[in-house]
Amino acid sequence: MDTGLKYIDVSVFQKDETKDVACAGAVNIPMEMGICDKADISFSGTVKFDGLLFVLEGCVKAALTAPCDRCLKDVAVRFEYELKERYIKENAKNDEKTETEHIKISDNKINLHEAVSVSVLAELPKKILCAEDCLGLCQHCGNDKNENECSCEAEPNTRLAELFKNLDIKKK
Ligand SMILES: [Zn+2]
Ligand SMILES: [Zn+2]
Repeated sequence: MDTGLKYIDVSVFQKDETKDVACAGAVNIPMEMGICDKADISFSGTVKFDGLLFVLEGCVKAALTAPCDRCLKDVAVRFEYELKERYIKENAKNDEKTETEHIKISDNKINLHEAVSVSVLAELPKKILCAEDCLGLCQHCGNDKNENECSCEAEPNTRLAELFKNLDIKKK
């Protein structure tokens, strides 16, 4: 079901040439934090060759499933971000531009899918909620408070009681 480019052949580039590149499909992402191992992504952008570096630049749109921060229910997450990577041929003379970070190209190929899949996790939204007002799980019994009320509502009261205790101490 993958469409478009997986690898970009850099052997065909002339100096100062820019080519449009695009890809779409499913990429594997490292299983971490309970996130699904697949993301649907699409990338559309360009590769520009300045005679030394190949600059890959464009927009990634990603869709994946990740657990809600509060209730752990699976949430469909969609987000997009700008991707920019610099590449250099393995055997290129690199006397001038050593200060920029770049990835080595082997076999004259830029692995576009890898560039995208590696970036997806880093760009994942920091806060994932099934709903802004998700009530989360009860810390005592694990009940999903969005679905049922449970009888252990002690926590907020305990916190309040502690607040009052502190106030008392200050008064003394
Ligand atoms: Zn939730
Ligand atoms: Zn409970």
